[in-house]
Amino acid sequence: MIKTCLPDVLEKKRLQITKRHNINASIAIFFIFTVLFLFIHLLASIEVRSRGWVLGLLGLSLFLCLFFIMRFISKLDYLFCKELGFICPECHKPLYIVIGRETGSKRLMDGRCPHCNKDLKG
Ligand SMILES: [Zn+2]
Repeated sequence: MIKTCLPDVLEKKRLQITKRHNINASIAIFFIFTVLFLFIHLLASIEVRSRGWVLGLLGLSLFLCLFFIMRFISKLDYLFCKELGFICPECHKPLYIVIGRETGSKRLMDGRCPHCNKDLKG
């Protein structure tokens, strides 16, 4: 487990949001694989000459699915941050940053706002 410099109250909220984010991401991954599975079955049932279109459609729809699902999860994270009050007192932006955003995540672990760099420890 990663040690953070956040006060206990904020650390508890961060862990709650992280847990909720991981549940949402797991559901999204399950949904994407279900759609992929259905497309593969659809592809197997279509005649050989038209598979190129179906593959293109599959790629495009997977890309769109990923894009909108990531935006949706990000929106859910934001709403949950607001609900819990996990918001920066200075810039009023949500403090939760997905791990992929290295700099912001490191700042939060150091006890600073990932957006405006305000010290949250005091
Ligand atoms: Zn801030």
